[in-house]
Amino acid sequence: MPLSCVNNGGPASLIRLERVPQLEVEAPLSQAAQFALACWQARPGEVLTVVDPDMTAYRARITSIDPAGAACTPFQRLPGAVESPLRIEVYQSLPDRERFELVLQKLTELGVVRMVPLESSHSATLEERDARQKKSHRWPEVVSKASRQCRRAMLPELMPVHSFAEALDRAAPTELKLMLYEGHVLWSFTEGFGSFRPQSVALLVGPEGGFSPAEVEQAQATGFMPVSLGPRILRTETAAIVAAALLQSYLGDMR
Ligand code: SAH
Repeated sequence: MPLSCVNNGGPASLIRLERVPQLEVEAPLSQAAQFALACWQARPGEVLTVVDPDMTAYRARITSIDPAGAACTPFQRLPGAVESPLRIEVYQSLPDRERFELVLQKLTELGVVRMVPLESSHSATLEERDARQKKSHRWPEVVSKASRQCRRAMLPELMPVHSFAEALDRAAPTELKLMLYEGHVLWSFTEGFGSFRPQSVALLVGPEGGFSPAEVEQAQATGFMPVSLGPRILRTETAAIVAAALLQSYLGDMR
C-alpha cells in the first residue's frame, strides 16, 4: 500500500473560485472548494488565499461554512502566483528533537510541495524521538500554521515517515534527483542541473551522521546525483533549507 499524506496537503487543498471574482463581493464556493476548506480546517471569519480559474491568487475572508454551502469575499488580488512553478520535494532524514519542526516551517515558506521524513541508517528513528517527547503529532499543525502565515494557496503534502527504500521509490517520478552529500563529490550544486530546466526536483538530505556508503550507492542507482553545498559541513536542517532556496532561485520563483 503506498503511504499517503498525513495532512490533507496537495492540489486538493487549493481553494478554487469558479470564476474571476469581483473584489469585495461575496462568491459562493463549490463542493470541491468546501473540501479544500476542510483540508485547511478553516473557520468562518478567517482570511486565506484562494485562486480563480486562471490561478490568479486573492486574499479572501471566509464568510460562511455550513452544510448548505460555503462562501468567501475576496478583497485583494495578489500580484503574482503564490505557488511555485517548480515542484520541490524534500526527503529529509529525521533530525534530532524539534529541528524537524524548523525544517517543516521553513520548507513550507520556501514553497516546497512535498516533505517526506525518512529514517536512514544514521538518523534518529521516529520511535526514539517520540519516546523522549511525542512531537510528531504536531507536525501537520506546524505545516498548516506556516502555510497560513506565508499566504500559500496550497498546503504542502506532509508524508508519514518513510524508510530509505520507500523514499527512493516515492521520488522516482521526479525529473531531477539531487542528493546533498558532504563527502567527496565531483559536482557542485548548480552542476547538478546545468542547463536542464526540470519542473520537478527531489532533494535527498542526510542526517547528522551522514549517509552510509550503501545508501549513497543505492540512491545513485535510482538516479540521484550527489552534489555539494560547498566546503563547510552544514547541519542537516541548514542543508535542506539552503538547497530549497537555491532551487527556487535557479529554477523556481525566487528571482
Ligand atoms: N557526516 C557528516 C555530517 C553530515 S551533515 C559529519 O559528521 O562529518 C548532514 C547532512 O547535511 C549531510 O548528510 C548532507 O545531506 C547535508 N550536508 C551538510 N553539509 C553539506 C555540504 N557541504 N554539501 C552537501 N551536503 C551537505
